[in-house]
Amino acid sequence: MTTPLTSTNSPAPAHGPARYRTTAHGIQVVIPTRCPSGQHRLTTNTCRIYETESTLHVACLACAEAASTEHTWSLTTQGRAALSAEFDDQPYLDLLRPRQSS
Ligand SMILES: [Zn+2]
Repeated sequence: MTTPLTSTNSPAPAHGPARYRTTAHGIQVVIPTRCPSGQHRLTTNTCRIYETESTLHVACLACAEAASTEHTWSLTTQGRAALSAEFDDQPYLDLLRPRQSS
């Protein structure tokens, strides 16, 4: 029996749009301080941030290590490129609200 792996052909649906702030230094992307599973605090040391064409990915290293199904935030950028990133839950309260597990 083979273990089904996440297909690279079907990217995970985005959690929502990435939020941006304009600062004196340019456009800054805002990243939630919690990983998608809600178990870990994200900092520049505990997550990996990478951008693809239209999506910003924030992978929680602890969850990735644990092979958690929800280890990466996928936030749509619509092609916007930020110069820097800041961790703040404020724009993402909807995303971070605990989901009902039914
Ligand atoms: Zn995590």
